[in-house]
Amino acid sequence: MEKVLQLKEKVQKKLKLYGLRPTRARIRIGMMLLDSPTHLSADQIYESLVDKGHSISKATVYNTLNHFARSGLVSEVAVNPTRMYYDSTTLSHHHFYNVDTGQLTDIPREELAVENIPKLPDNTQIEDLEIVIKIKNK
Ligand SMILES: [Zn+2]
Repeated sequence: MEKVLQLKEKVQKKLKLYGLRPTRARIRIGMMLLDSPTHLSADQIYESLVDKGHSISKATVYNTLNHFARSGLVSEVAVNPTRMYYDSTTLSHHHFYNVDTGQLTDIPREELAVENIPKLPDNTQIEDLEIVIKIKNK
């Protein structure tokens, strides 16, 4: 119980820090995402909350995650056009995505070097370079 309360407090502080009002849904979802480095999709979060007996709508989960991402509290990783993961690690890094299991795993930034970056279109600069390596089971 103690641990849950500590986590709740930590999430409330973090929400405030990012300018987000600590609503019940935000605290609940924040507690799932911000406890330890993790990658979760909106559906995974929704299903887990429903499993635990919480009544929350899918729209609320999606809206909350959008707010989180827009404020910079979590980052978004699009593994394909239909699947977005929310990543509690917001520093730039790379990922393995297992298409068989749907699992997303971090690759530390220093373990992957990109040597041939093509000439950028005029008047642009690189904002970020994050790579998703798709893998499948043998
Ligand atoms: Zn990650």
